[in-house]
Amino acid sequence: MAGPELDANGRVIGVVLKGGEKVVGDAVIAADGAYSPIKRALKIDSEYNGYSAIAIRAEMPANKPDSDSLDIYLNLKFHGDQLPGYAWVFPFGGGRINIGLGYVNSYKDWQKINATQFMGEFMQTLPRDWGLPPIDELKKDKLVRAWRLPMGFTAWPPWRPGVLFTGDSLGAGKPASGAGISKALESGLAAGECAIAALLNGGPDDFTNYGQRMEAAWGKEYRRGRYFHKLAGIPAVANNGIKLIDNSFFRDRRLKALYKKEQGPQHKVK
Ligand SMILES: Cc1cc2nc3c(=O)[nH]c(=O)nc-3n(C[C@H](O)[C@H](O)[C@H](O)COP(=O)(O)OP(=O)(O)OC[C@H]3O[C@@H](n4cnc5c(N)ncnc54)[C@H](O)[C@@H]3O)c2cc1C
Repeated sequence: MAGPELDANGRVIGVVLKGGEKVVGDAVIAADGAYSPIKRALKIDSEYNGYSAIAIRAEMPANKPDSDSLDIYLNLKFHGDQLPGYAWVFPFGGGRINIGLGYVNSYKDWQKINATQFMGEFMQTLPRDWGLPPIDELKKDKLVRAWRLPMGFTAWPPWRPGVLFTGDSLGAGKPASGAGISKALESGLAAGECAIAALLNGGPDDFTNYGQRMEAAWGKEYRRGRYFHKLAGIPAVANNGIKLIDNSFFRDRRLKALYKKEQGPQHKVK
């Protein structure tokens, strides 16, 4: 798919495939991910901007005994500024571990961060006896992967005439964690139902019903999340905040809040 097909009034009436073929429809559900070609073509000027986390990770061998722990490092500094983000280390089994880090683009200088180099610097703070490979070697072997996690609604309202945005194209990821799989499924289902209801009533020019569904489901939580990210992106706030929260009591409560509905092994306060 190369992009949306528009009518003379700017309403989306289908998509154009890369070969030039057009596929028309009464409503288009954009489920084309964080780099949504449909959204980019429409130059969506969102009422809410939401935020995106930039995340990078690699799997690698390590001289580290296997365990069932997930280590979170909240102290993530760039040129002395505490970042709104964290790094992680968890075992994969068989002598391999996953190391990664992520930060939110509410930090003013986020574009100055070379994520790969930054991850290499973080790895150098980890115990030497783990014998981690150098970041350049991981990069050369294409073992490092970076990605973007949009969250807190990056396209709002979540529709334009003829089109409904879902999942990462809507920025439906949960602001507290960036988790977007269940949100993509739920927003996709809601978009389908709302599109049918709207087409049976007023037609494809107005999908306000979808905006209302999304607002009722996650509006309050995502507003709070956007506000939190905005604050956490201010280095002075983040620098002081980290002093308050970087302790096992807070970490335990936060992990429980993040994963309270997830299945998985229980974690314990160290
Ligand atoms: C490495 C990684 C780890 C993650 N871990 C988690 C996690 O543990 N838990 C969690 O909840 N979320 C996680 N996420 C986020 C989650 O994957 C996304 O939020 C979710 O996949 C969004 O679903 P989506 O359908 O909106 O977009 P996507 O899954 O990105 O799907 C978009 C689809 O559109 C297709 N597409 C894009 N452009 C075009 C085009 N021009 N023509 C045709 N097709 C196109 C793509 O090929 C893709 O198949 C992770 C993301 C990444 C990258």
